Amino acid sequence: MTDHDSSLTAPLIAIERHRLVTDGEGVTTLVAFHGCPLRCRYCINSQCLDPARVWRTITPNELVGELAIDNLYFLATGGGVTFGGGEPLLRSEFIHAFAGLCVPQWSINVETSLNVHRHHLELVLPHVRWWLIDIKDTNEDIYRRYTGRDNALVLSNLQWLLQKVPSEQVTVRLPHIPGYNTDADVSRSRARLASLGVTQFDEFTYRLPPSSQASQEKAEPYFQ
Ligand code: SF4
Repeated sequence: MTDHDSSLTAPLIAIERHRLVTDGEGVTTLVAFHGCPLRCRYCINSQCLDPARVWRTITPNELVGELAIDNLYFLATGGGVTFGGGEPLLRSEFIHAFAGLCVPQWSINVETSLNVHRHHLELVLPHVRWWLIDIKDTNEDIYRRYTGRDNALVLSNLQWLLQKVPSEQVTVRLPHIPGYNTDADVSRSRARLASLGVTQFDEFTYRLPPSSQASQEKAEPYFQ
């Protein structure tokens, strides 16, 4: 598959323009992919997991064309595009192709769980300016109970990444998850991650509404 392969498309759940320093430097446009390997108990973007809820599919070239409307904002503020989801690294070929087509000054950020095969990281590594990593909890049992998957790949990918990029390009989100981890668990995760070289943390608490539908305090849904 080449960068200009017209068959390279990706399913999206949303594109949100004009986000200001919420997920990257300057003005950014969030591009949220459909699909995720995890099944978080309090998933805020459950449409990512439902095959019937793909909003649209798009090619890298089409996406560049659509985002170009904000080119001046991106250039003036040092902003660009943030790929989220879902799990954006499952679309590493798409991001790689997009990076070869977009204005070189656009920053490219990713919001990822890192729970993907290493080759996805290798493909996007040269293009990504800022990594926002949703680590959940470093404890294997807590992670498995909360996401339905184990976290061995997450931790090994994080160690690999920290050897490849300066720690200033990596922010790790550390949630307090009601019913799944305690303050002491979060402190243990933080200490463990700091020992690996993480220097930037975003620690916060998931806020659960009275109903069984959960939401997160700091991570807003891409659309309601
Ligand atoms: S990683 Fe995000 S999109 Fe995937 S299941 Fe968890 S909360 Fe939902």
